Amino acid sequence: MGTGTGTTEMGTEPAGVGMEPAGTEPAREAEEPPGSPALPAEPPQAGPPGAGPPGEAGRQRQRQRELGRRGAGAGQGPGGRAARGRARRAPGRRGGEEPGVTVDSSKAKTSLEALKISLRQLRWKEFPFGRRLPCDIYWHGVSFHDNNIFSGQVNKFPGMMETVRKITLSRAMRTMQDLFPLEYNFYPRSWILPEELPLFVAEVRVLRASDPSWQPTFIVKPDGGCQGDGIYLVKDPRDGRLAGSGHGRPAVVQEYICKPLLMDKLKFDIRLYVLLKSLEPLEIYIAKDGLSRFCTEPYQEPTLKNLHQVFMHLTNYSLNIHSENFIHSDSVNTGSKRTFSSILCRLSSRGADVKKLWSDIISLVIKTIIALTPELKVYYQSDIPAGKPGPTCFQILGFDILLMKNLKPMLLEVNANPSMRIEHEQELSPGVFGNVPSPVDEEVKVAVIRDTLRLVDPQKKKRKDAQCPSLERVPEPSESPLGAGPDAARDAEAALPSLCLKQVFPKYAKQFSHLRLVDRVAKLFIRFLGVKGTTKLGPTGFRTFVRNCKLSNSNFSMAAVDILYIDITRRWNSMGIDHKEPGNTGMCLQAFVEAFFCLAQKKYKSLPLHEQVASLLEFCECHLAALDERRLLWGWGALPARGAAPQPGCAAPTEPQGHQAGRL
Ligand code: ADP
Repeated sequence: MGTGTGTTEMGTEPAGVGMEPAGTEPAREAEEPPGSPALPAEPPQAGPPGAGPPGEAGRQRQRQRELGRRGAGAGQGPGGRAARGRARRAPGRRGGEEPGVTVDSSKAKTSLEALKISLRQLRWKEFPFGRRLPCDIYWHGVSFHDNNIFSGQVNKFPGMMETVRKITLSRAMRTMQDLFPLEYNFYPRSWILPEELPLFVAEVRVLRASDPSWQPTFIVKPDGGCQGDGIYLVKDPRDGRLAGSGHGRPAVVQEYICKPLLMDKLKFDIRLYVLLKSLEPLEIYIAKDGLSRFCTEPYQEPTLKNLHQVFMHLTNYSLNIHSENFIHSDSVNTGSKRTFSSILCRLSSRGADVKKLWSDIISLVIKTIIALTPELKVYYQSDIPAGKPGPTCFQILGFDILLMKNLKPMLLEVNANPSMRIEHEQELSPGVFGNVPSPVDEEVKVAVIRDTLRLVDPQKKKRKDAQCPSLERVPEPSESPLGAGPDAARDAEAALPSLCLKQVFPKYAKQFSHLRLVDRVAKLFIRFLGVKGTTKLGPTGFRTFVRNCKLSNSNFSMAAVDILYIDITRRWNSMGIDHKEPGNTGMCLQAFVEAFFCLAQKKYKSLPLHEQVASLLEFCECHLAALDERRLLWGWGALPARGAAPQPGCAAPTEPQGHQAGRL
């Protein structure tokens, strides 16, 4: 169920990334105020024994450790020499006249430590208490709405937290599974409680009847929960606790993946970091390395006896850290938390096809983001309406992925605020707890934050244009190697390792463009929202949509349109989970999508759902394009005669080729 092995063919390039650890090991130094002098240069040190495979990756990590300690480009080696030469070419610009890239870190919360190290490596200017003048970048720990920001860039999208909540994610994935069942079989079959409890019970009964050998287990996860909070496993769909969730928190009940890939007899999952750099146009990057979090009790397939054993079934770090078997490790490839690259190395040495695994993971990430973008776009236009001053957004997401025994990656959830902590609490002496650095977290997370900043760098182009690496000179003693101006940042950039984040979209856009149907439906929805700042469509907006797209006719009257609107909107609003506009009774995007599918099914009866939807989209888009063209001509005082022919390229606004559409 929901666990087929179909995969999408990808280009060859994604395969192979991550075969080596990302090659970054910044120093674990104490937090220092911005602009504090660099530590003196140290001779290179050998990495800790077993800290990853030797070779280029090991050398890169070593180099990165140096960078973290001294500040990038501050000392010996080619980067340092080039830095000195370039520093000489711009006397007078250091010392704060032009601060280079400015970053407000006052709301960074638990990501602060990793952010500080990143900024030090980049030689960017940190404002730990905020700034009266606008900053280039605002780094928020939790949400977009932490501040009033009118310019620059912020590391959160409005609505992301709501969009990746368990119920909303499950709904978005269900819509995509309805359209493309094989392409989206990487997400376990899920139902929403309490409203889908009867459906859940009925569907499981039917599936059991068709395959009596199927002995499923289900995992129940409260909506909005995290860190394993409130999660439990059940075998029987009629378990009383499921019905009880109607009185408590809404939840998702999901098919439990019973045969995960094990390592050292333990279940583990993968946290991968994904950068959504831009929504429109869509730009996605994936970090070459991530984290693997291990259970602390040997895994057994679920039975009534072991269902409650969280250390066996749940991989959450926050739970397993309380197990006496939890192993904090100084190495990135041992212990209860390891780098994903170390897992890939082991799999590769066992003969596993890790290229294909990477390719499947990239495909999973792109498809998931394609499922999330329609909702995100609705929030975006509501919070940052076109034409109003506002920041641009980017965001690091945490993808939790479980590998099945056959190496098929399955999506468990997406985190809007993945932990960026690089230390953990430890008992230093009996009864005395303190925070100690976690090498594995630091290795992965600092690289992700730093390289995210490099990718969104607002001065990148300026810096590139000014770069002229052939000129090298020894600096004057007065030239501080640790300024935060553009020159220092340029020098730092030159000394950094290659990016750990790899672009996957638009790079592989072609293979996925056919999946972006709901995105196009959302575009129609947004067009008819009318009032700026809203996220729900009123009855008039819906009627205008139907009229402008010429969807009503003698078989589908405007009265029927109103009934459709009322029926669907009422049902969605009665579900009671509305993070956007509680009390607003309009039609939300998901309700509009349902109405759109309904219209498509009526009009193009004989086709599979995705073709029905694609056909109706084409139909609507053509009519709207023709309307826009007419309005444009109107504006120019040259309105064509009523009923003029549609525009070139829009020759068949009536029916898609090869299919006779039914009337609505
Ligand atoms: P939370 O946000 O509370 O961490 P998750 O969805 O990540 O919730 O689930 C917690 C843990 O439960 C996961 O890390 C994983 O180990 C396990 N888990 C979740 N869903 C499934 C599933 N469908 N099959 C098997 N294990 C799962």
